[in-house]
Amino acid sequence: MMKRRKKINIFTIKTIILIYILSITFSSLFLTGCDNGNLKNSSKPHTKNKVTEEKQTQINLQQTDISEINVSEIEAVQGVVTRVVDGDTIELKSGQVVRFINMNTPESTNKIEKYGKEASQFTKRMLNGKTVWLTKDISETDQYGRLLRFVWLKKPTNLSEKEFRANCFNAILVLRGYAMSYSYKPDISYSNYFRKFDREAFEKKLGLWQFGENGTTKGDYSSENKANYDINTNLGIPKEQALDSTTYFTPSGKSYHKFKNCPTLSRSKTILSGTLTEAINKGHQDPCDFCYK
Ligand SMILES: [Zn+2]
Repeated sequence: MMKRRKKINIFTIKTIILIYILSITFSSLFLTGCDNGNLKNSSKPHTKNKVTEEKQTQINLQQTDISEINVSEIEAVQGVVTRVVDGDTIELKSGQVVRFINMNTPESTNKIEKYGKEASQFTKRMLNGKTVWLTKDISETDQYGRLLRFVWLKKPTNLSEKEFRANCFNAILVLRGYAMSYSYKPDISYSNYFRKFDREAFEKKLGLWQFGENGTTKGDYSSENKANYDINTNLGIPKEQALDSTTYFTPSGKSYHKFKNCPTLSRSKTILSGTLTEAINKGHQDPCDFCYK
């Protein structure tokens, strides 16, 4: 009995060791494979394989890689616009309602906001009866069941800022002052572009911006979402900074600073000051990383 038991024990130990060695070898092989594949995969021309949801999320999170992604990987879907509901909402031939993302046009239906009618007319003129391309960010639909999408006038060839400016209707609305950029989680992969577009229209006082620096819309989402809405955040301006507060900048610098003794400023001989609005109008558009960290 004793002898037999000992044999079994030795056999069991051998088996455990073997499994252990095999599992180490396997997992190291697996990890090496992942390391090599991870980034390269996303820039490889896409074949017939569908991009998994996980991979799509990964792509969306890697901002710098976005512009290099081939359109076949971002799943642009074609649709025909049969009705324009208002400036930022359309209906497709399929019956689906599409709400444009990353922006709000002033309301023109249930409630009236300044410049809402103009925005609605512009969207009608540009999209009614047209074939468009649709891409999504993260969310499929909103709380009202509307598809949350970027609407493209031409099939996008990539997702660079340049492409958004030229062909994305959501971006065009913001750039021309028909809409205000609006970041709402989780669809924020391209929000930095939209904040930039917003600021450009704001500085030129285009469209809705001619009515004042707060814009004219609070959007069509209910009050629960209002807490997420902030004009400064929308313009890429730190929340605590009022537009008439004092800022500091250098003649050639692109940043504005909250503190006169900011170490970045100490390198400059000339330090100028002015309100935040003045700073932005003079081309000092970026909040200093040190002052606003
Ligand atoms: Zn600073």
